[in-house]
Amino acid sequence: MPGESPSPLPTTGPLVILGAGYAGVTLAQGVWHRTKGSLPVILVDQSPLHVLRTELYEIGKMALVQEDSPWALPLETIFDRTNVRHQLGRVQAIDLVHRKVKLDSADVPFGTLAICLGSQPASYGVPGALVHAHQVYGLEGARRLARAIREVETASVQLQGERRPRFVVIGGGATGAELAADLAMTDWPSVTLRSARAPEILLVPGALPFLLGLPPSVQRRVREMLQCAGVGFLSGINATGVEPRCVLLEDGTRLVADLVVWAAGVEAPELVRALPVPHGRGGRISVSSTLEVPGHRGIFAVGDVAEVLDPVTGLPVPQTAQAAIAEARTAAYNVVALQKGTRPRRFRYQEMASILALGSGRGAASVKGLPLWGRPASWLKKLVQTEYARSIRRGEPSPYL
Ligand SMILES: Cc1cc2nc3c(=O)[nH]c(=O)nc-3n(C[C@H](O)[C@H](O)[C@H](O)COP(=O)(O)OP(=O)(O)OC[C@H]3O[C@@H](n4cnc5c(N)ncnc54)[C@H](O)[C@@H]3O)c2cc1C
Repeated sequence: MPGESPSPLPTTGPLVILGAGYAGVTLAQGVWHRTKGSLPVILVDQSPLHVLRTELYEIGKMALVQEDSPWALPLETIFDRTNVRHQLGRVQAIDLVHRKVKLDSADVPFGTLAICLGSQPASYGVPGALVHAHQVYGLEGARRLARAIREVETASVQLQGERRPRFVVIGGGATGAELAADLAMTDWPSVTLRSARAPEILLVPGALPFLLGLPPSVQRRVREMLQCAGVGFLSGINATGVEPRCVLLEDGTRLVADLVVWAAGVEAPELVRALPVPHGRGGRISVSSTLEVPGHRGIFAVGDVAEVLDPVTGLPVPQTAQAAIAEARTAAYNVVALQKGTRPRRFRYQEMASILALGSGRGAASVKGLPLWGRPASWLKKLVQTEYARSIRRGEPSPYL
């Protein structure tokens, strides 16, 4: 803890990082830069790719482009000039006492551990939400959605009368808004068949305020922009169930849908929720101000998986890539401090911007609390995304995230 005299780590062994998302990759790169290879690093992930999850709302583009390269970078390339070793495997359990991780293929002992396993979609107890609805929280899910839309659109040429395919998006956060915009702004007949019918997009943002946490002017403007793009809002009402081709609302309405997307939020993965450590909202690990798991020296939790309280507001830091990267930089410093027996740093969060892509070169943003609209917001989003991908490929920290 800061303020206490640091003592060296009780055990030796490699730094094992679980999860190669925004937090895990940034942490591995940060430790490599600080130690130049003197600390062995094993980066475990179930995939050989670093998925650019913040871009998975691009369903229209995914329906056109068959390969994964715009949304994922090979881990091998990212770490080819470092000593960071990627171990492919699915984490099954974490043994905090005997300091080892159980993978589907092997057990991996660790000296220091960083849990960066991200998050999974949360159903909030809504029956059928994770069974009958699509989601864009992972690359596979987003790809499945793009394929399903192609099928629905291709079949739409046979629809009777004036009927159009109906896509329902459930979720009133940034993911739901960006996704609804992308679905509404994509020219689906040109992606599938000229005679295909443009879909009707309905957004069910739920009973909480739309885009909670963003300035009211941004909330209003995004709603207007979505409505202009033809997105229908069913506001102030929660979804209570999802059945095949149907969404149930709490007032008893049965909303018929050709396709449903669940974008209502995330929770910690099951194996993380099962750990005997303090948990916060959604089963996230409540970490100390140095991002360590209380009572477990040299075990860190970083990114979506962790609940970090902002020392200024006392509120949890948001679950975003931006926060995951900022946390990972502090965690990298603290991992090395622990090795050297020097004082760790407290995590301080300063949000740079919240930016939403709203299709066809339009966007909305809050940059240090100031609103930004239209093309400038969209350019800013593109700049952040391309610079992140470019810097991560070069093995350097991104200047914007
Ligand atoms: C559509 C969409 C748009 C978004 N837009 C933005 C945005 O504009 N800006 C922003 O800041 N944030 C955005 N976010 C949120 C952001 O993507 C997350 O907050 C961020 O990905 C969290 O990073 P992470 O490293 O904690 O987790 P992740 O990036 O999800 O990485 C977790 C890693 O752990 C691996 N993993 C999980 N379980 C296992 C297991 N059992 N075994 C092995 N490996 C495992 C996964 O394969 C993955 O590589 C968006 C999210 C979505 C879905």
